[in-house]
Amino acid sequence: MIYDRSNIFARILRGEIPCKKVYEDQYALAFHDINPQAPTHILVIPKGPFTSFADFSSQATPEEIAGFVRAAGLVARQAGVEDSGYRLLANHGPDSHQEVPHFHIHIVGGRALGRLLA
Ligand code: 5GP
Repeated sequence: MIYDRSNIFARILRGEIPCKKVYEDQYALAFHDINPQAPTHILVIPKGPFTSFADFSSQATPEEIAGFVRAAGLVARQAGVEDSGYRLLANHGPDSHQEVPHFHIHIVGGRALGRLLA
């Protein structure tokens, strides 16, 4: 899929739009979701131009994938939800209502979450 460089997360990465940043390294940027669904709702995005999980999992280098996963774990730990628990979520494509076409995972926690597939 062709990456749309004007998507909102690409603009955040370029510093054109502000975000409430919680973490950044060479592989990932993490910031608070603008419309939080739980007390903790953080988005973690890779730095590279990946449209969705399908793209990221097939096109990113092993180093990029490992760096991204490591960053997401650090973000959850820093957010203080490691002991109480949290959910990682990535939407891909129309059926899942992926809204922003730059791969991202949601880290959601800070309250008891319903069963995902109930
Ligand atoms: P998706 O449905 O693509 O998995 O989730 C996109 C998420 O991005 C939504 O939870 C939405 O609230 C969040 N979002 C959309 N636009 C912005 C923005 O400009 N800034 C931030 N911080 N989050 C955004």
